[in-house]
Amino acid sequence: MRLNELTIKQASAGLHQKEFSVTELVEDCLDAIKRENKNLHAYLDIFEDAADAAQKADEMLGSKYQSVEMSNGLPSLFGIPLAIKDNILIEGRRCTAGSKILENYTAAYDATVIRKLKNHGAIFLGKTNLDEFAMGVSTENSAFGPTKNPHDHTRVPGGSSGGSAAAVAANLCLAALGSDTGGSIRQPSAFCGVVGLKPTYGAVSRHGLIAMASSLDQIGPIARSAEDAALLFNAIKGKDAFDATAVASDNSNQLPAASANYNFLKKIKVGVPKEYFIKELDIKVEKVVRSALEKMEQAGAELIDISLPNMPYALPAYYIIAPSEISANLARYDGIRYGYRHQADSLYNTYALSRQEALGPEVKRRIMLGTYTLSAGYYESYYLKAQKVRHLVREDFRRAFDKVDIIVGPTAPGLAFKIGAKINDPVQMYLEDIYTVAINLAGVPALSLPAGTVEEKGVRLPVGLQIIGTWFSENKLLKIAGAIEKILTP
Ligand code: GLN
Repeated sequence: MRLNELTIKQASAGLHQKEFSVTELVEDCLDAIKRENKNLHAYLDIFEDAADAAQKADEMLGSKYQSVEMSNGLPSLFGIPLAIKDNILIEGRRCTAGSKILENYTAAYDATVIRKLKNHGAIFLGKTNLDEFAMGVSTENSAFGPTKNPHDHTRVPGGSSGGSAAAVAANLCLAALGSDTGGSIRQPSAFCGVVGLKPTYGAVSRHGLIAMASSLDQIGPIARSAEDAALLFNAIKGKDAFDATAVASDNSNQLPAASANYNFLKKIKVGVPKEYFIKELDIKVEKVVRSALEKMEQAGAELIDISLPNMPYALPAYYIIAPSEISANLARYDGIRYGYRHQADSLYNTYALSRQEALGPEVKRRIMLGTYTLSAGYYESYYLKAQKVRHLVREDFRRAFDKVDIIVGPTAPGLAFKIGAKINDPVQMYLEDIYTVAINLAGVPALSLPAGTVEEKGVRLPVGLQIIGTWFSENKLLKIAGAIEKILTP
C-alpha cells in the first residue's frame, strides 16, 4: 500500500510511530497527482511547495512537537495532506471558483477553515475543480473543463465538489474540503464512493468561502471513512467572529466514530420517508439502498416509516431561493472591483461586457432567474412563497426527528452519468438534487456514505446512502455512520 492510500487515522498513527515521515507521505501524494491529474483533472492548481511544508513539519516532529498533539489518544491532522475546493480562500494562492471571471484572482486572506487547519498542522496539496461558483452537479460547468470520475473516465464525478471527491477517491490526497449549497458535497461523494458530510447550517464558518447562496452554503469534509470525516469536521467547526451565523456546537463530544460498533445500531431508530421511493429513483440504486436498510435492521436498528409531506416542493423552492441569493451575491463581479475586466467605452458597457464574456451559461441563467424572482412584481408570488415552503420543509424534519434518530435514503436518484449526457438540459441536471436540497433548506446535517456498487456496462459504480440527522448532531450522525460503514463494507 502506498502512503497516499492511507486514511487520516492510519497516516497519523504512522507518523506518530515514526514509520514514515511527513515528507514521504506528501511525496507519495504529489507523485500520484503527477501521474493521474492529467487524466482526471481533479486539481486546478497543484502546490509543488507542499514538499517544503512537509519538510518543516518533519523538523517539528523531530523536536517532539507531535507527542503533545497526540496526548489525548486521538489521531491528529498534523502533517496530513489535504485538497481544498477552489472556492475556499488560501492566502497568496489563486482562487478561481471555477470561473473565468476569477481566473487570475489571488486570495488576500485565509478562510477561517483554512486558518484552523493550518493551526492543526495540515498540509495543502492544491485547489480542486468545481462547477462555476459551485452551480452544478457534474463539474461540467467549470470554465476550465470537467473532472473525470475515477471509476470510469467517461463519466462525471458529480458536483459541484467533483474535484475534491475525485481526488479523495483516486488517492490524490488523504481527504478534502468541499462546499454544499444543495448537495455539492454529498452527491459527488456518492458518485465517487467516498464519505461526504454537509454540516448543520452555522456549524462551520463560511468566512472565506466564495458565496453562492449564503443562507444555504456550508463547508464540509470529504474523506475515505466516517471517522476521518469526523476528524476534519471537528477541526473546522465552531464560532467565528467573521461569520455571525457560525456558532459553537457539540464541543465536548470529540469524535468517537471508531468506538461505534455493531451493537451501537441496536438503539437507533431509522426513519424511512415514503416520499423517497419515487419513479425518478433508478431501480438499481433503490436495490442497493434497500439492501443497506435491511442490513441495518439485521444489526438491530428499528426501521420506522415516516413522511416528509413537503419533500416534493423542496426542489422548486430551492431553485427560486438559491438563484435569488446568487443574483445578489454575484453582483460584485462587475469588472471593476476585481477579476476579469473588459475595458469598454462606458461604465455600463464595462459592466455588461465583463460579465457577458467571463461568466458561463449556467451562472447567467441563475442570475437572470434570481433577478426575476426578486423583482418588484414577482417577489411575492415567487421568492416569498418559496420562503414559506422552506418553513414547511423545515417543519417536516422537526416533526420527523421527534420520532427518529436518523433519516436514511438515497443521496442521488441515479448513478454517475456520462460526460455530456445532460449538459444541454438544465432541468435534468436540477433533478439530480432531488434528495439533497431539502436538507439545505432545513439546515440539518447530512452525509453520504458508500452503500455498495452497481455494475453498469462492465464497470462497478458506487451508490451513496444519505443519512440525515437533527440540527447540530454531527458527532452522533458520524458515529452512527461509522457503525453502518462496518456492516456495509465486508
Ligand atoms: N446542484 C445544486 C445546484 O446546482 C447544488 C450546488 C451546490 O451544492 N453548491 O444548485
